[in-house]
Amino acid sequence: MKIRKLLDSDLSELYKIADKVREDNVGDVIHIRALLEISNICYRNCDYCGLRAENENLTRYAMTMQEIEILGKKSFDLGYKTLVIQSGENNFYHIDKLAEVVNNLSNYGTTVTLSLGELDYKHLKTLKEAGAKRYLLKFETADKQIYSKLHKGYTLDGRLDCLRAIKELGYEVGSGFLVGLPNENLDSVAQNLALLEKLQCDMAGIGVFIPHKDTPLRALPCGSVQLTKKCVAITRILLPKCNIPITTSVGEFGDKYELFGGGANVIMQNITPNVFADNYCIYPKKHSLTDMQKDREKLVYDLINIGRKPI
Ligand code: SAM
Ligand code: SF4
Repeated sequence: MKIRKLLDSDLSELYKIADKVREDNVGDVIHIRALLEISNICYRNCDYCGLRAENENLTRYAMTMQEIEILGKKSFDLGYKTLVIQSGENNFYHIDKLAEVVNNLSNYGTTVTLSLGELDYKHLKTLKEAGAKRYLLKFETADKQIYSKLHKGYTLDGRLDCLRAIKELGYEVGSGFLVGLPNENLDSVAQNLALLEKLQCDMAGIGVFIPHKDTPLRALPCGSVQLTKKCVAITRILLPKCNIPITTSVGEFGDKYELFGGGANVIMQNITPNVFADNYCIYPKKHSLTDMQKDREKLVYDLINIGRKPI
């Protein structure tokens, strides 16, 4: 299998190929996306995630519609063209109210991306009609058994049905997987990459698993950053025009910009105010104070310094 062979290649070789494919297909532009974590309330219990419903060691929050709209508009005024609205999977928000905010932000000029988990078709449709352009929903693992084990009560088929609905409704589709989940080996990683290719995603996010102390996977080691970098490079080779972010989890390890040399062309800047962000604890993170303006200025400065064109 071609992908399995690529996984055995040297990282520096893969980087060289991926960098050329990136240059030829998406050029030197780096897309900066603002990430707003609107709520950590979640009714699911994914075994790896600190926001899982059974974790009682965090204070749950949900931003108000007004807060979301004000922060979204402020980010646009500061130059962030895309706003990624992310949350735990919940039915806390009335969908028509959320649609109104999406509509107001879209009319303001923001490209709205949603990452709210597996929503019903009718809710996805309402949000699309309100102006949302993109939807991010990782399949997490392409192995049906591993999927069901990590997400009790849910199936990979259900996840893929939701991704199909998202595509059918005309959203640009983002998906991806985690590197380092239990019982996965290199063949499973090859299967994950093959599924990404099959889905022909517009965006592909590959995260590295980081254990959280309040989850059933607390005792597991982190996923391999080296393998994650290989996966990003191979994704660029398989999907040359795809938008590929440096996922925030990979950014926790060392020089996050390094991945721009290995196929990535997108970066997410977290703009969630600290009063909320401290409780959006998917996995343990380095603590940093959010300053929407200064963070963007620094990012733009850094990206220009490495010879890229931030937009
Ligand atoms: N609830 C939505 C969902 O699951 O699609 C969006 C929010 S969820 C926190 C976003 C992503 O966080 C998931 O797709 C998952 O890959 C990632 N994530 C969760 N726990 C993680 C962990 N321990 N290490 C790395 N990434 C993790
Ligand atoms: Fe909830 Fe998403 Fe975390 Fe799963 S990954 S527990 S759906 S926030």
